[in-house]
Amino acid sequence: MWMEKCKDVDCFMAGLVKRNPGQPEFHQAVKEFVATVLPFVNENPVYLKHQILERMTEPDRVVSFRVTWRDDHGNTRVNRAWRVQFNNSIGPYKGGLRFHPTVTESVLKFLGFEQTFKNSLTGLPMGGGKGGSNFNPKGKSDNEVMSFCQSMMTELFRHIGPDKDVPAGDIGVGAREVSYLFGQYKRLQNEFHGVLTGKGLAFGGSLIRTEATGYGCVYYCQEMLNHRGDDLKGKNVVISGSGNVATYAAEKSSQLGAKVLTLSDSSGFIHDPDGITPEKLEFVKELKEVRRGRISEYADKFSGAEFHAGMRPWSVDCDVAIPCATQNEINLADAKDLTKNGVLVVCEGANMPTELDAMNHLMDSGVLFGPAKAANAGGVAVSGLEQSQNALRLSWSREEVNEKLLTIMKDIHAKCVEHGSNGSLPNDNVNYVTGANIAGFIKVADAMVAYGAV
Ligand code: NDP
Repeated sequence: MWMEKCKDVDCFMAGLVKRNPGQPEFHQAVKEFVATVLPFVNENPVYLKHQILERMTEPDRVVSFRVTWRDDHGNTRVNRAWRVQFNNSIGPYKGGLRFHPTVTESVLKFLGFEQTFKNSLTGLPMGGGKGGSNFNPKGKSDNEVMSFCQSMMTELFRHIGPDKDVPAGDIGVGAREVSYLFGQYKRLQNEFHGVLTGKGLAFGGSLIRTEATGYGCVYYCQEMLNHRGDDLKGKNVVISGSGNVATYAAEKSSQLGAKVLTLSDSSGFIHDPDGITPEKLEFVKELKEVRRGRISEYADKFSGAEFHAGMRPWSVDCDVAIPCATQNEINLADAKDLTKNGVLVVCEGANMPTELDAMNHLMDSGVLFGPAKAANAGGVAVSGLEQSQNALRLSWSREEVNEKLLTIMKDIHAKCVEHGSNGSLPNDNVNYVTGANIAGFIKVADAMVAYGAV
């Protein structure tokens, strides 16, 4: 007889909170997961016997280190950085690096935990990890960002490798930062291989990687609508954020015939009732990726558009909402605004953008809800394809990568339908949260059972 374990969520969470004090984001991510997976675990004693949930919620390791760098005025500056290697049961650790002042160990543990199941859903051999620093790249010169990246890699390089741990970008880490990091890795290790993804095309990057998370999210949203006999064409779409994920979610929505009404950044949101067309998005890309300016400039440039300072876009009438900025950006009041205005679908581009009670309100109100670990898996899926291209020393065309991305997003949707069609929601909606969690869990859990007690 094996040790009796917690069979309900409150009991499980009490232990987790005790073991991980002061980590609210990590608690939130685990609670959302355990609430849907625990009943499934209780029906499958093999997972109970092997204490799979207890093992899965403990990262393999967390490396924490100091990053010392020099600013343009000759001052010595200090930040803290981490790499959370969460679970490598089905492949080398894989997950982005985030540079933002709000980064803590708790945030990175929530992201690494989520990443484990997201990567499992893609069907590719990737474990879960995440890293980053409380360094704020906003307002820093290229030289300062380079100095920081080089110093960070001087510690990080000993913990990563193409068969060990393969980081990528996330908030605050785009093409510029990945290039500085890769350059320093190559110098220290004297090896050229796919140790980071999101690289420039000239040095091993994949076509469509930049677009992949945003495009993939919209492909997933389209699949959810198609499954219910509907389509994105003609729909009004509200998007938050104006970074990598938001820009390309807007571009693909527009290409599929929807009208995109909003974008945002941390200073507020812009509302363009005429629609943010691909031509207008070129302005946004230049604004954000080159000039690193504020989204308010959009309203100065395009007549009819308005800037709403300090606000989020969820009160704007829409059929589809795609949060693409950061965690907990839709609270219960925002969710009530969305349902009052008749939203049909909420599809998460960002990681954990919806608070738990907001998510439950949306699903209980009959809204189709696409959780991040399924809906935004397109980015890491194309990162996985970048690793394959690097290992094979070849590069696939734009069309080939896009086709593979579309197929992966359709497969993920199908897995969620398989495990989430349980009749628990109004309108006979698929419970995509349950579906994604169980489908992601099974593969990792079965590998852990097979390995025995390691
Ligand atoms: P970017 O840094 O490119 O863009 C982030 C955007 O979100 C910016 O517009 C930023 O505004 C805004 N933002 C960030 N923090 C806040 C905040 N606290 N309040 C309001 N707005 C905020 O990041 P990405 O587009 O890469 O990432 C966005 C989300 O998508 C994150 O949750 C990330 O984890 C997730 N994701 C990203 C993937 C990728 O491939 N890049 C893959 C899967 C998920 P400002 O410039 O003012 O800070």
